[in-house]
Amino acid sequence: MIAETSMAKPLKKLVSCVILDLDGTLLNTDGVVSEVLKGFLTKYGKQWDGREAQRIVGKTPLEAAAAVVEEYGLPCGKEEFLAELHPVFYAQLCNIKPLPGASRLLKHLSGHGVPMALASNSPRGSIESKISYHQGWKDYFSAIVGGDEVTAGKPSPEIFLEAAKRLNREPSSCLVIEDSMPGVTAGKAAGMEVVAVPSVPKQAHLYTSADEVINSLLDLQPEKWGLPPFQDWIEGTLPTEPWYISGPVIKGFGRGSKVLGIPTANLSPKGHSSLLSEHPSGVYFGWAGLSTRGVYKMVMSIGWNPYFNNAEKTIEPWLLHEFTEDFYGEELRLVIVGYLRPE
Ligand code: ADP
Ligand code: MG
Repeated sequence: MIAETSMAKPLKKLVSCVILDLDGTLLNTDGVVSEVLKGFLTKYGKQWDGREAQRIVGKTPLEAAAAVVEEYGLPCGKEEFLAELHPVFYAQLCNIKPLPGASRLLKHLSGHGVPMALASNSPRGSIESKISYHQGWKDYFSAIVGGDEVTAGKPSPEIFLEAAKRLNREPSSCLVIEDSMPGVTAGKAAGMEVVAVPSVPKQAHLYTSADEVINSLLDLQPEKWGLPPFQDWIEGTLPTEPWYISGPVIKGFGRGSKVLGIPTANLSPKGHSSLLSEHPSGVYFGWAGLSTRGVYKMVMSIGWNPYFNNAEKTIEPWLLHEFTEDFYGEELRLVIVGYLRPE
């Protein structure tokens, strides 16, 4: 279609292979680290604050433990805390979930014969055990480079240069996908193209050295790099596995959405934190059921409130129907079937 051609994004640079970071890019390792830390804090009589999750992103388990010991004033040294934490964390490796869009991306690129490598600061053994829990993942990668296989980890470029060497490619024809700042620095120092997928919300402005910053892997457009485009978008929408969320409609932030003609029947994020952490912020669509009224088409944003440093995401569904009255307090059930765009 002519309209589509003229809307095509300009080519950034041609690459022929992709080098991926693991923790925070393909796997939600921080989710499991948070869960483990949460459990430990309870033991010490402290309560985990959701905002803490942002403080441990991109850190090694030791750095994360140090941050938590300090933040909560725990009566133990960080080594002691880590020694306690370590076995618990390793027992949880099997529970680390792929980040949204990770499996889709790997399957897509591998299906088109694009060579891929994994490059992580974690030791090789730990990388292999983490990916062993995800069917088919090991076979996607033509090369794996761990932090223990080079003299210096990221932000040194060494790990990426070694990955390129093992893929038999020039650094300039490699695309790096990374969530952390040290990783982005390493990729650029290696002379590679770098797409950043920051794990910490609202930090995108810090990633200026990356060639592109995206909100989640769902937003990656491989064609910008000369790679085969995804074919699962349908008329600007990306169908997803259905997921469900429900609760009573609560008062939102009074941002005057109604005045603008887009009232959003907010749900409380309480009790939905793990579900919400599995889905990137962004605009989704699906169906909404109100028990006494009916079922309606629905467009919903999941987001980080722009005004407050809130610990939880917000859930704001707009029902595509004209209501003559408000329905605060009523039970609202949502099924989400597709993704539209970032926030
Ligand atoms: P708040 O900040 O309290 O969410 P809004 O301006 O977003 O205020 O208005 C949301 C309220 O408007 C909902 O809780 C609901 O009771 C009512 N409402 C009326 N029509 C709709 C609609 N089509 N979609 C969502 N909410 C609607
Ligand atoms: Mg609202």
